[in-house]
Amino acid sequence: MTFLFPPAPTPSLPIEGSDARFPVRRIFCVGQNYAAHAREMGHHERADPFFFTKPADAVVTDGADPLYPTATQDLHHEVELVCAVGPDGALGWAVGCDLTRRDLQAEAKQKGRPWDASKGFDQSAPCAAIHLGALPDPTAVIELRVNGEARQTGRLDDMLWSPDEILTKARELWDIQPGDLIFTGTPEGVGPLAPGDRVEATIGGLPALRFTVAAR
Ligand code: MN
Repeated sequence: MTFLFPPAPTPSLPIEGSDARFPVRRIFCVGQNYAAHAREMGHHERADPFFFTKPADAVVTDGADPLYPTATQDLHHEVELVCAVGPDGALGWAVGCDLTRRDLQAEAKQKGRPWDASKGFDQSAPCAAIHLGALPDPTAVIELRVNGEARQTGRLDDMLWSPDEILTKARELWDIQPGDLIFTGTPEGVGPLAPGDRVEATIGGLPALRFTVAAR
């Protein structure tokens, strides 16, 4: 069998303490999984988590800097705990950032249109190295700083759906496979990023995520 042209390389994430890499198959994301973030987005009824997706090759890894995307004037940061799924379920955990074109998302919400352009754009999923093993302590702090200033601070146990519940619910909707990543939602404090901004995101003792927004 030959391909008409060379297939794209498999996107992958580094694994802490290992030379092996995690091959990314799909990226699922949970929206409105922290009540205070749902409120800051204008949802004053009870928060109601749900899924959306990004392409696998949206990951930005190994300390690379994502480009400020086209077609937005309002790029936002959303720090998230990422579940990496292996052959036997949750295999490890990482710090990720669900970059969002907030202006396009607001327009999509208003017009009842899909979120793909606001969420699933190129380089929209920076992710640090995966820590293999058990879920971090649920009291762990999840935090994102921009140019050294704390913007988002929460605790993992502020989640409405726990990571276990997220996996169960995802399996009701998809045949979840090894290589799938699940971004588990963001705490309050989302806000804008500009070219040149230095982002540092941490969750307990997981490998930190650091990047600078690159000017286009
Ligand atoms: Mn998010």
